[in-house]
Amino acid sequence: MPDASQYLSDSDEALIIESIEKWLEKKVAPVAMKLEHANEYPHELVEDMKELGLFGALIDPAYGGLGLSAMTYSKIVQTIAEEWMSLTGIFNSHLMMAQIVQRFGTDRQREYWLPKFASGELRGGLGLTEPDAGTDLQAIRTVARRKGDKYIVNGAKTWISNAIEGQANALLVKTDPAAEPRYKGMSILIVTKIDPETGAPLPGIRNGNKLEKLGYKGIDSGEFIFNDFEVDAELSLVGGEEGKGFFMATGGLEIGRINIAARSVGIAKRALRESVAYAQSRKTMGKPICEHQAIQLKLGDMAARTRAAELLVEDAARAYDTGQRIDMEAGMAKYFASETAVEVATEAMRIHGGYGYSKEYVIERLYRDAPLMCIGEGTNEMQRIIIAKQLVKRSPV
Ligand SMILES: Cc1cc2nc3c(=O)[nH]c(=O)nc-3n(C[C@H](O)[C@H](O)[C@H](O)COP(=O)(O)OP(=O)(O)OC[C@H]3O[C@@H](n4cnc5c(N)ncnc54)[C@H](O)[C@@H]3O)c2cc1C
Repeated sequence: MPDASQYLSDSDEALIIESIEKWLEKKVAPVAMKLEHANEYPHELVEDMKELGLFGALIDPAYGGLGLSAMTYSKIVQTIAEEWMSLTGIFNSHLMMAQIVQRFGTDRQREYWLPKFASGELRGGLGLTEPDAGTDLQAIRTVARRKGDKYIVNGAKTWISNAIEGQANALLVKTDPAAEPRYKGMSILIVTKIDPETGAPLPGIRNGNKLEKLGYKGIDSGEFIFNDFEVDAELSLVGGEEGKGFFMATGGLEIGRINIAARSVGIAKRALRESVAYAQSRKTMGKPICEHQAIQLKLGDMAARTRAAELLVEDAARAYDTGQRIDMEAGMAKYFASETAVEVATEAMRIHGGYGYSKEYVIERLYRDAPLMCIGEGTNEMQRIIIAKQLVKRSPV
């Protein structure tokens, strides 16, 4: 976790963003539309992302990562989401898993897992959601029972990003299903589908279906099924102590929410940029549509909201970099930016008229991608409840 003295200088940050922009222009832009419509996993781009260090963006350099601040990281996410939002999910879910080990793991767990995560040799995500438990995480049923120096895992997870193409997962389980309150019986295990040393597939863990989606194409969303799956307790029980998993998972979601907010800003910025350009070239009634007041009102609204969302993301990233819990700041950024992405993408489609509905333009992708931002990493209904609870907690009378 960088303190203020570890922030990159503006020029170093600009250099990183510039190298990402060059990669986006040269390698991503030419293939994004094709991969999106074929719903194809971007294997080659993932190799580039390993080289760019994105899988270690938030991991301490002592473990082979870049050790970036949340501030720089959120700008990278925003920049990539402007080109193709799906790519950001491949490293963000992965970094949520890594952050859980980095923040809460034992020394041995950090030394064992983080270098493998930072290089992208083991990639993965966060396994919280189950068929009967999404928002109500404490209702999960996946159980891990201690047996000697192992845990035996049984249960199922769904909607897990990187479940199929990735190899690892930070899995939320019940280690004491009878505990009251329920969160006290929850723990996080780092699990892998392959033996990290030999690469051989492990028994007892398998993927179910690859899930079909409205947007967020290319990246895999899948299921995990555990059937007497054995893991080494010392390496996998994060922090070495049962009962802390709910706190770790919700802590991991903070950076996830900043990421979703940054992705939302990327979607909104792209939709705005396309709209400003289109409104100058498309003519009706003898003049560019940007000269019609109805379109000007839309563009003004879109620009103001997008900038406000960007500033909220900066605010949340700055707060995250202090190392404190920042549920309220992350919740505000996530809520406002994702609603903005939906509004701006919708207005962009209207400005583009029939062409906004065409698969030849990027607008229909932005329009399909934006609503996920309102659902992922905690729905916007929940964000408002979290904000309200924090307001009361921070300002008691
Ligand atoms: C593309 C995609 C990728 C995903 N990736 C991951 C992943 O990598 N890992 C992972 O663990 N999960 C992942 N998810 C799951 C996602 O986090 C859940 O879908 C989300 O948390 C909502 O849970 P749910 O779908 O079960 O909805 P529910 O919890 O059933 O909620 C349904 C509705 O009720 C509302 N609601 C629920 N409880 C309350 C309440 N107490 N007060 C007010 N309103 C309430 C919700 O806001 C929502 O509107 C992904 C989902 C999608 C679609």
